[in-house]
Formats: sequence, C-alpha cells, structure tokens
Amino acid sequence: MGPVTEVAEQFTELYGRAPDGVWSAPGRVNLIGEYTDVNEGFVMPLALPHTVVAAVSRRTDGVLRLHSADIDAPVVELRLDDLTPLSDGGWAAYPAGVVWALRAAGHPVGGADLHLASTVPTGAGLSSSAALEVVTALALNDLFGLGLSRPELAVLSQRAENAFVGVPCGVMDQMASACCTEGHALHLDCRDLSIRQVPFDLAAHGLRLLVVDTRVKHELGDGAYAERRAGCEAGALALGVSHLRDVPYDELDAALATLTDERVRRYVRHIVTDDARVERIIGLLDAGDVRGIGTALTEGHASLRDDFRISCPELDLAVETANAAGAHGARMTGGGFGGSALLLVEAADAETVTKSVEAAFAAAGYTAPRVFPAVASAGARREA
Ligand code: ADP
Ligand code: MG
Repeated sequence: MGPVTEVAEQFTELYGRAPDGVWSAPGRVNLIGEYTDVNEGFVMPLALPHTVVAAVSRRTDGVLRLHSADIDAPVVELRLDDLTPLSDGGWAAYPAGVVWALRAAGHPVGGADLHLASTVPTGAGLSSSAALEVVTALALNDLFGLGLSRPELAVLSQRAENAFVGVPCGVMDQMASACCTEGHALHLDCRDLSIRQVPFDLAAHGLRLLVVDTRVKHELGDGAYAERRAGCEAGALALGVSHLRDVPYDELDAALATLTDERVRRYVRHIVTDDARVERIIGLLDAGDVRGIGTALTEGHASLRDDFRISCPELDLAVETANAAGAHGARMTGGGFGGSALLLVEAADAETVTKSVEAAFAAAGYTAPRVFPAVASAGARREA
C-alpha cells in the first residue's frame, strides 16, 4: 500500500468519512545561496523525494481539525474565528497558521479536516515545516477554489510561519516546496520571485548528491537566526542599499573597506559572495561542467563557517571528511547550527564517501548520521 492510500485510509478511520482528496509537498535541500533569501538575493534549492502527504476534506462550519500520524497526540480541534497568532499551538500552528494567513488575506476558507504523514526528517534543515505549510495551502486552494498561484501559496505559507508560528524564515523553503520540478534545481530570485528551472540530472553525469543529516537539531528560535538577519540589515543600512542583494560582487572590496564593524563586514561578505556563487554555479551547469560546481560548494561552506559562523563541528567534519575521501565538493545546507550537509560525489564513490563520513562520526563519538541521495524531485501536487 502506497503512502497516499495509507494516509487516505487513516483519514477515513479517524474522521469517519473518506477525504475529498490527497495532496503532497516535498522537503528541500538548498544547493547554494544561504541566508540570501532574506537579503532579497538568489538561491537554488531542489525538492527531495521526501514528502508530507495530507488527506483533507472541506468543512463549511468554521471548524478546523488537524492530526499527524507522526505525532503521538489526539486530533487538534480549532475554531477558525479563534485562531490567534503566536499562541504556541505546537505542530498544529503550522497548518492552522496557513488557514489563518489565507483568511487574513481575504480568501474564503470555511474549515477543514486534515490528516497527514511525512517522510521529511524534522529539524534536519530539510524544511519539514515548509512542506507542512505548502501541502495545507495547496489542498485548501483546490478545495475552496481559491485560484492562487504557486508563488502566492508559498508567500502565504511563509506569512503563516513568520506571523502565526513566529519563525522569521525567508521565502526560499516554501517556494522550493511549491515550485520545484522533477530533474531540476530552482533558480529563484527572492526579490521578485521570478524562477527558472535549471536541469539538474546528476545521474546522467555519473554523479550523486548526498545529504548527510547530522542528527544535530538546529533551533532557529534560539536567536542566532534573528541576529544574522539583523547584522545583514545593519550592513545594508551602512552601505546605503535596501538589501545586500544590491551590493554588486565586483564592488564588494570597496564596500567592505567602508564598514567598521568586523562582524557586519563578515556577514556582508558571506551574503555577497554566496549570491555570486549562485550565479557561478548556474554558469557552470549551463556550460555542462557539473563537476566544476564542487569547488563553489566547498567555498560556500568556508564562507558559512568563517564569515557567517553558523556551522558546527559535526557539519565541518562531514564536509572535511567527504572532501578528503574524494568528493568534488561539500557544504552545510540550511539554517545552520546542525541539520544537514550536502556532498557532491561520483556515483561510483558514493559508498566509500558515505562509509568515511560514518567512520569519522563514530571516531569523534557523534551520533551516527543519516546519509541518503538527494534526487531532484517534484514540487507540491494533488495525488488523489
Ligand atoms: P525543519 O523545517 O528544518 O524540518 P522546523 O523546526 O522549521 O524544522 O520545523 C519542524 C517542526 O514542524 C516540527 O517541530 C513540527 O512542529 C512540525 N512538523 C514537521 N513535520 C511534522 C509532521 N510530520 N507532523 C507534525 N508536525 C510536523
Ligand atoms: Mg523549517
């Protein structure tokens, strides 16, 4: 029995009627461009085959019922009129926040029953939260005939996470989950949300992208994320631009020379060079030099470690070990302080590199990492 049928059957058992439909939305890994989304710059995520699958039925009585197969808790029942931002609703705040954001934007959502199950690891920097939001938004869009576009659903999902849950994330994760397509990475301009699907078929090149989930849980709420964002804003203010995206790479040295705060200077350097690395990687992929992107990935890691300072010993070890074991390049991905690393390897070397990383973690006394291939998969969709 596939996950779609299974989730539909669980829904029926739980709510005593069949769902109106089943939807899915994927987690993502970001190939390059970290914290650039909140600086209105460029990113390049790809969707994972791991998804949140949600069975949903329409209600018209203003009641919202939510249940997750992955959380040991009874059905959460809420009244739409009572939805209050930042009320610490636990996991249910994510889907409830989407309903709240849709209604706050004037869209007629009358209530729903929702049951979900997910294969996206949580808190691993792979955006289980965005997948949960986007699957809810897409289901409600279809069920209530809202006619919203994918980017509109992504922006409303981000608003749910920012204003209702209280996590100050950028728009990359929701855009990735909503807009990625199979076999492509998503080149996204976070200023105007324009996108380009960039062919990313590593298998055709004999290559593989491995995700190393370090099992170190990142905590975006711990203030470091907000501190980095504030530091970037201070940099933009000092440089007289609205966002760091507006600092051209070839004017970076001159810009840095005017900054007196060493910390702000490092943050600016990371953002401007990472935006440039997105463009560099696009250029290499367009030229067919897929192996060539490895160097840019490893440079991106150094920038996050030394300038932005959001890496951690487990992520550094994964990257260093992989590169020493023959990877073309590697970097941490996501918000930092744990979560996952990405390794670009020859398909033929995947097993050796994986074993090296596992052995290095064991030798360091770290929890065994979870290593799996990242194959560019489809974005959110209706399944049944
Ligand atoms: P990430 O998005 O990197 O996985 P976050 O901390 O942003 O990490 O989001 C994780 C949170 O999303 C969980 O703590 C939980 O509240 C919610 N969540 C994710 N997956 C599920 C799920 N399958 N069932 C219920 N809640 C989930
Ligand atoms: Mg998240």
